[in-house]
Amino acid sequence: MTLTTLAQAVYVIAALLFILSLAGLSRQTSAKRGVNLGILGMGLALVATIMLAVDTSHRPVGVTLALIIGVLAVGGAIGAWRARTVEMTQMPELIAVLHCFVGLAAVAVGYNSYITERAERAAGGTVHLIEVFLGILIGAVTFTGSIVAFLKLSAKIKSSPVMIPGRNWLNLGALVVSFALLGWFLATPKHGFPPLILMTVIALLLGVHMVAAIGGGDMPVVVSILNSYSGWAAAAAGFMLGNDLLIITGALVGSSGAILSYIMCKAMNRSFISVILGGFGADDGAAAPGAGSAQPEGEHHEITASEVADLLKESSSVIITPGYGMAVAKAQYPVAELTARLREMGITVRFGVHPVAGRLPGHMNVLLAEAKVPYDIVLEMDEINDDFPSTDVVLVIGANDTVNPAALDDPSSPIAGMPVLTVWEAKHVIVFKRSMAVGYAGVQNPLFFKENTAMLFGDAKKMTEAILADL
Ligand code: NDP
Repeated sequence: MTLTTLAQAVYVIAALLFILSLAGLSRQTSAKRGVNLGILGMGLALVATIMLAVDTSHRPVGVTLALIIGVLAVGGAIGAWRARTVEMTQMPELIAVLHCFVGLAAVAVGYNSYITERAERAAGGTVHLIEVFLGILIGAVTFTGSIVAFLKLSAKIKSSPVMIPGRNWLNLGALVVSFALLGWFLATPKHGFPPLILMTVIALLLGVHMVAAIGGGDMPVVVSILNSYSGWAAAAAGFMLGNDLLIITGALVGSSGAILSYIMCKAMNRSFISVILGGFGADDGAAAPGAGSAQPEGEHHEITASEVADLLKESSSVIITPGYGMAVAKAQYPVAELTARLREMGITVRFGVHPVAGRLPGHMNVLLAEAKVPYDIVLEMDEINDDFPSTDVVLVIGANDTVNPAALDDPSSPIAGMPVLTVWEAKHVIVFKRSMAVGYAGVQNPLFFKENTAMLFGDAKKMTEAILADL
C-alpha cells in the first residue's frame, strides 16, 4: 500500500469522526465527547495530509517535512496563544477572524491552482476552471464579509446597518457582472487574469457591502452565515486541490452553518433570504440607523442589593434572564451560588435563555453549564415565556435587547418583530446593569421605565455577591 492510499483511508476515518463530532455537539451532555472526536479527526487529517504531501511532492522528503513542520509550529503557536488569552466575550470576534482566514485561503488556493495548472487544464478543463472561479468568488466574499463582521462585533465600527440607496440592485448587479466575467474567463482560459482579478475585486466589495448592510440585532445570523460561507469556500478549495476530506469537511461546515442560520432566523423572526442577501427586503425605514428611540423615556426607579435580597426572601418563584452583561462581569459563578441558595430556601428558580442572548449562539448555556447550574432549570425562551405572569421576581442580569418590549410594541424599532422574553409580565423585574446605556442593537429599552421595574446599578458580579451576602 502506498502512502497516498493509506492517507485516503485515514481521510475516510477522519470524515467519520467529524460527523460523529457534530452529532456529539448537538447536545450539552455529549458536547465534550463531540469536541474530543473532532480533535482526533483533525489530528488524523493532519497526519494523512503530511503523508500525502511527502508522497506526492517533487522536493526531497526532508524539505517537505521541514516546510510543513515550520508552518505548523508558527500556526499552532499563534492558535494556542489566542485560545489561551481570548475572553469568552471575544469568541464571536475570534470566530469571525478565523472565517476570514478560510476565505483568504480559498482565494489563495484558487489563484495558485490557476497559475500552476493553467497550461494543462486550459484545454478541456472547464469544470476545474469553474471550481477556481467560484472558489475565489466565495472566498473573497467570506474574507471581507468576515472582516466587517469582526469590526462590528469588536465595536471598532458602528453596528448599525449601512444603507446605500439601491443596495439590492448593487448586490444583484455584482452577481450578474461576476457571471458575465465567468463567461469571459471560460472563453479565454489561458489569458484569464483580467476577468479573474476583476471578479475578485467585485467579490471583495460585495462581502463588505453585504455585511455592512446588516444591523446590530441581526449579527448573530451573519456570524453563522459567514460560518456557512467559509465551509463552502473550504469545499471549493477541496475540489480545486482534489482533496476529498476538505470537500466533506467544507460541506459539513457549509450545511450545518446554513441550518443554524435558518434556525436563528426563525427564532428571531427574520427572513432567511433577506439576511443572506444582506438585508434584502428589509424595510429601509425600520432598519435605518437611529430609528427607534435611543433617548431615555420617562423615569426609572432604583433599588439596592439588600432591598433585592428582601424581595427574594418573600418570593416563591424567580426567573433569571441572563444576557451579555453576565458574560462581561463573569457573574455566572455568583449567579449559580445565588440559585443554589434560593433553591435551598424553597424558592423555585429557573433560567430563561433567549436564542441570541450574549454574543454567540448558546453563549449563556455554556456559561451556566460552566458554573454547574443544573440543565433542567435552564429553559429556552419559548418554554418559559408563558410563565412570567405567574412569577414573583425576574432578575434580568446584564440582558437588554433580548428583554426589550419595543421589539413587540414599536414597529419603527430596528429590532421590531424579534421575539423577546416578556419579563415585564412578572410582578417585579430587577435589571442588573451599570448605567442606562443601550444594548448591542443601540435602542433604548422601555422596560427600564415600567412601574414594576427597578434598576440595580453596578457590576453584575459585585451586585449578585452583595445580594448573596445579604441573604
Ligand atoms: P445586550 O448586548 O443587548 O446588552 C447587554 C447589557 O449588559 C448592556 O446593556 C450593558 O449595560 C450590560 N452590561 C455590560 N457589562 C456589564 C457588567 N459588567 N455588569 C452588568 N451589566 C453589564 O445583551 P443581550 O444579551 O440582551 O442581547 C444580545 C445582543 O447581541 C442582541 O442584540 C443580539 O442580536 C446581539 N448579538 C448576539 C449574538 C449571538 O449569537 N448571541 C452575536 C452578535 C450579536 P451597561 O453598559 O449599562 O452596564
